[in-house]
Amino acid sequence: MAKRMEKFRAKDITKDGKWIVDDRKVELTGIKLHLPGNHGKREVLMFFNDASAYHDRCMGCDEKTSSEQSIIAMEDYHYMVAHCCNKIWLFDNKELITEVYA
Ligand SMILES: [Zn+2]
Repeated sequence: MAKRMEKFRAKDITKDGKWIVDDRKVELTGIKLHLPGNHGKREVLMFFNDASAYHDRCMGCDEKTSSEQSIIAMEDYHYMVAHCCNKIWLFDNKELITEVYA
């Protein structure tokens, strides 16, 4: 199941790992997300309702990570969803990048 990225917003990601699309709730784990640019598609392997295993602080507000931030883990990328700031960042698992969804 492929989904376009246009409506990928932090406020549409629930803290229990669901993506609200057109008023439906879709389980993120197992679906394929279109990464921005030419990064292609990645299957979501895992959802974490606490970002602290990946990041010490929120990129937006510099708060210590907690259940206010979530991680959407894929094979070689992950998203950090900041419910506090209503933003999503995409990270290459090897190096910090690039895209912010506000
Ligand atoms: Zn924040």
